[in-house]
Formats: sequence, structure tokens, C-alpha cells
Amino acid sequence: MSGEIGEHCGLMGVWGNDSAAYEVYLGLYSLQHRGQESAGIVSSDGRTLQSRKGPGLVSDVFHMDDFKRLPGNHAIGHVRYSTTGSGRIQNIQPLVVEEIEGLLAVAHNGNLVNARTLRKQYQDKGAIFETSTDSETIVHLLADPQHRNLPDRLAHCLGHLRGAYCFLFLTNEMIVAARDPNGFRPLCIGRLGNSTIVASETCALDLLKAEYVRDVLPGEIVTVSDRGVETASFGRDCRTRTSQCIFEHVYFARPDSNVFGENVHKVRVTLGERLAAEHPVDADVVFAVPDSGLSAAMGYSRGSGLPLDLGFIRNHYVGRTFIMPAQDDRRSSVEIKLNVVRNVVEGKRVVVVDDSIIRGTTSKSRLDQLRRAGAREIHMRISCPPTRHPCFYGIDFPEASKLAATGRTVAEVARLLGVDSLGYVSMEGLLSAVSDPGAFCTACFSGDYPVLPEEEMDKLSMERKIC
Ligand code: 5GP
Ligand code: MG
Repeated sequence: MSGEIGEHCGLMGVWGNDSAAYEVYLGLYSLQHRGQESAGIVSSDGRTLQSRKGPGLVSDVFHMDDFKRLPGNHAIGHVRYSTTGSGRIQNIQPLVVEEIEGLLAVAHNGNLVNARTLRKQYQDKGAIFETSTDSETIVHLLADPQHRNLPDRLAHCLGHLRGAYCFLFLTNEMIVAARDPNGFRPLCIGRLGNSTIVASETCALDLLKAEYVRDVLPGEIVTVSDRGVETASFGRDCRTRTSQCIFEHVYFARPDSNVFGENVHKVRVTLGERLAAEHPVDADVVFAVPDSGLSAAMGYSRGSGLPLDLGFIRNHYVGRTFIMPAQDDRRSSVEIKLNVVRNVVEGKRVVVVDDSIIRGTTSKSRLDQLRRAGAREIHMRISCPPTRHPCFYGIDFPEASKLAATGRTVAEVARLLGVDSLGYVSMEGLLSAVSDPGAFCTACFSGDYPVLPEEEMDKLSMERKIC
């Protein structure tokens, strides 16, 4: 199937560095939280492109010998997180293709909402697709003879895409970075001596000791070549809503990163403080579901005055539970991943802070663990509003019917989880934690989608010409 829901990924690019591929590799390590399914690097020495990619973590895929086979001063890389069934080896990015102008490598983060339609159009004309990812669509748009001679070919082709995307392209002449007009996913530019770096998150710049320059803007194409850094804008008009993904702040990005101009940890602490103000409770101790709940738990403790402790200890040698394909696997892996500190929990009234409840399955298992360890009362606090709507822009949420909060009141979710009380931060509380609330997508909480998904577009296309 094309246009799979849920491809959040990490992108990394280095231009003008004699160990470009190695720098990209280091950057991908910092972006590993953005995708653990596969990793890839493509390098250019100005004459040809070389690639190395494979399934698994960055540490599984690359070995020191590989860097000899990734020569050149320019490279891009990708870590991929995808949904069940799409782990095909062909899908591993960056994709490398030979088009009329030469070799081209493409790496994509996000999810296109009209990939299925575009794919069908090209397949009807006889095109062959090698992958089942929506990322390949851009290659066909670029190769389309109707587009080939346009002066602003890339801007025009990107204009055909709907949804969330950050792209990195590498040729023997340049690296091009592009961010969709709504700016759903983060992408930043950094500098390391004479090298230019592009990365999904600033934590990758930190590891390289690169200096942060700025974010790629929504609807911006940044071209890095021997001519320097050039910029062009595309796809935005007075109706375009900047809609950066608030879930990057809630859960997805690393707390040491600044995304969309703000430090993720700071935003999460503020959310925790807000949660304490909105949902106070008489209790003995506060702790997080690690790691994603840590910053918010700190904020809850600060806001409430209740002592912060470690109620769960994480085993750092287990992959993310969400990655496990089957529900049964996910459930059993919960215990492997976290264990309770009985001494902190036994006989206590505990406040457990987590960033989100999605399906509710891992939360339920964690709460069972707490009960088994003798918690007297369990008060769960969540640092985002109830997640009731699927994401079409790259966060791996299941369909609405599988979301714990869909069709349930907060009291019903509390009953489902078997907790003494449950409090979610309100939408106002969530938006008060960021400095430009109007510039965020909150569709997973509100159902207000800034770009309509394909089926909705199909229905509308009779009435409104979209492309
Ligand atoms: P649930 O209880 O809904 O099964 O799982 C909730 C947990 O999943 C939370 O601790 C939250 O941090 C985590 N979570 C939320 N979104 C994602 C995601 O996109 N990927 C992964 N791996 N975990 C997620
Ligand atoms: Mg978590």
C-alpha cells in the first residue's frame, strides 16, 4: 500500500566536510529516537553517489569499514520509523535513483496525504514504483517530462504534494532541504567550520559541535552547493496555516532539542506545571513513566510541591515498545522495559505522569505493575489532552477506534485503566506552553485537520480544484 500512515523519521545532511558520511552517522545517532526500523547514508564525491543502508539501529547498520565506501564531502542520512508491514528492504531510505540529469538521493520525513492518488496517476501512465513508501512520489514528479524543464522544477513538484514533509535531496552538485508549507515537521540548519549541516533536530548539531543557524522555514527550499546557501519559498499563500506538530513537543522530539524555536524539555516542564494547576491531588509522591514523562513529572512536582521520585526504572537495552508489531508483543515487552521501585510505591498515594495515552495498552500494564507493587492510590496525569483523532501527518497513531480516549469520557478512560483519578492537560493548557500557539497542528486532540487527508480530498475534488 502506498501513503502509509505514520512515517516519522530523522534526517541529517552534511555539505562540505571531508568526513561527511561519518558526521552524518554521528548525527543519525542523535536522531535515533526518531526511527529505529532502518538507517541509511548516501555520500557524494562530486562524481558519483554511494550508499549504505539496512534494517535496524544506526549501530547495527554501520561499521567503521563502511565509511571508506562512503567517500566524498557531502552526504545525507535517514533513520526510519514506520508502521507494521512496511519493513520492506526497498523502503529503506535515502532512496537513490538515476534520473535524466544524473543520480539523485532522497530522504523524507513525514506523511503525504495525496500519495495514493499521485502514485495511481503515474502507474496509469506506466511508471514502476520500487518502494511502497509515499516518499517515492517526489521522484516521479521530478522525472515527469512536463516538469523537467520548468525553471522552478522542485518548487512546482513539491506544490503537487499535500501533507507533511521535510525532504533532503543529494546530487553531485548540491544538497537541497525542503519543508512543507505548513511546517509540520522540524528541520534546522547548522554550521560547523565551513560545512553546512541540516538536521531534523538540534540535538544532532550539538553532537557534531555545530552551531545552530536557523530553522528551515515552512514552505522554504534551501539549496547548499559550492555557490553557498540559497533560499526560495514555495506553496504558501494568505490561507496557509503554519501547523507545526505539537506532538513533537509532547512526545516525539528529544528534550535537549529546540524544535520550532523552543526547548522541548522546557515546554514539557511547563506542561507538567500546568497539569499540577489543573489537576491537583492529595498524594505522597510524584513520578514519571520514563523517559517520555520525565520532564512533565518534574513540572508537576514543582507546580504541586509534592516530592519527585523514581517509581519506575527503565531498562535502556530494550527497544521502544511501540515498535513491536503485535499487541501481544507490546504487552509482554512492557515489563521488560520498565520495573517498579517497590520501596517508592508500596503503601503510597502516587501521582504517575506520562506524556500521552494512545492505545492505553502500555499504560494499563504499567498501572498493573504499580498495583502489584502495593500502591495505595494511583492518580494518573497526562501532559496532553485526550488523543481522540488519528494523525495523517506522520505520527504513528492507530485508527480512531483503537485510541483509548476516542468515544470515551475522561472518567471512562479512568475506569478502563482502573486508576483512582485521571487528569489530562487541557487544550488551553497545552497551547499556553508554547510561545506561538496559533502556529501548531493539534488535530490529534481537536480533529481540526489543517490539510485534509486523501479520502476527504477525493470527496472534495469534485467541488474544488486542489492542485
Ligand atoms: P499506551 O498506553 O497508549 O499503549 O502507550 C502510551 C505510551 O506510549 C506513552 O508512554 C507514550 O510516551 C508512548 N507513545 C506515545 N506516542 C508514541 C509513539 O508515536 N511512539 C512510541 N514509541 N511511543 C509512543
Ligand atoms: Mg512514554
